[in-house]
Amino acid sequence: MGTHTSVLDVTTMRSRLDRLRGHAADAGLASVVVSPGSDLRYLVGVAGSSFERLTALVVPTDASVAPVFVSPRLEFAGLGHVPFGDLGVEVRTWVDGEDAYALALAGVPGGPVAVSDMTPALHALRLRDAGAAEQQLAGPVLRELRMRKDAVELEQLRLAGAAIDRVHARVGEWLRPGRTEAEVAADIAAAIVEEGHAAADFVIVGSGPNGASPHHEVSDRVVQQGDVVVVDIGGPLPSGYNSDSTRTYAVGSPTEPDVAEAYAALQAAQQASVDAVRPGVTCQDVDRAGRAVLAEAGLAEHFIHRTGHGIGLDVHEEPYVVEGNDLPLEAGMTFSIEPGVYLTGRWGARIEDIVAVTDTGVERFNTRPTEIVVL
Ligand code: ZN
Ligand code: ZN
Ligand code: ZN
Repeated sequence: MGTHTSVLDVTTMRSRLDRLRGHAADAGLASVVVSPGSDLRYLVGVAGSSFERLTALVVPTDASVAPVFVSPRLEFAGLGHVPFGDLGVEVRTWVDGEDAYALALAGVPGGPVAVSDMTPALHALRLRDAGAAEQQLAGPVLRELRMRKDAVELEQLRLAGAAIDRVHARVGEWLRPGRTEAEVAADIAAAIVEEGHAAADFVIVGSGPNGASPHHEVSDRVVQQGDVVVVDIGGPLPSGYNSDSTRTYAVGSPTEPDVAEAYAALQAAQQASVDAVRPGVTCQDVDRAGRAVLAEAGLAEHFIHRTGHGIGLDVHEEPYVVEGNDLPLEAGMTFSIEPGVYLTGRWGARIEDIVAVTDTGVERFNTRPTEIVVL
């Protein structure tokens, strides 16, 4: 996956571990087990990988007991640059034949354990058998940290937005009649890396009727003159922070008769949701603002997904911008605003920008015009 860097310094890591302990204590937990992935990267700067051999960071709520990082000796070579010593984390490596679960839990106070959401069942259940019997998900505790971005994280997401905007600015180089979606997507994927991402995580090119399926990826369909094409792309910067942006293109004048009118409503809906973003407004209020505009235009039934998702070290994370989520927005939260209209069997359109809640309102991290781009 290309190069990886961490934008985390030791002071920030320490404060995140402290805040994790604080939130864990509030939740009545004795410890938190963090497995490889974005949660681990958030805390100590490396994601690592989960295999059949246990790697985990065990953080007791009691600050007088050192956190434990347990790792197979053969994996630890790749993690040696993490400043575990400066963080007061005790490293325990193990070799095949040793009981890694007992090693992870030795000396850790008993009681309710929160296990990070992406922990393989293989490890969660073996930890249970080794004594961590009372388990719950750590997502609700970790999200309290991760969904409020600090200035360094906001800057990374701003850079990610600018990088994917540069790719959208170039889509006309590749999206032409006679080429397959897959061919167009391969060129876009290369540009995603050229423009500064560590990898192209996803490239959706949904042409004509395929655009009416929100998570269609690519196919061998040949792009036709007159097609409306949904292009939804993104990936992580070397720091791990992700981009995710959608624009809708038209290859010449659209052949479908209702595109201009429906697209105008979609554009107004997306703007209405963006305009609704400010501290104190709930996630569902942001969803409702755009949805009302589409309903007014008679398109309510064609907007078939939530308005957006949080973004950071994961492309999809908390908070979710969806009906039923009454979480009030706070400065530092970052998420997508991505309403769509999907006319089954004919065409679809989506507009997606990443935004951040500021002290007084909203900042867009994607700044390309939201008009349909006629090529
Ligand atoms: Zn998605
Ligand atoms: Zn997207
Ligand atoms: Zn998205």
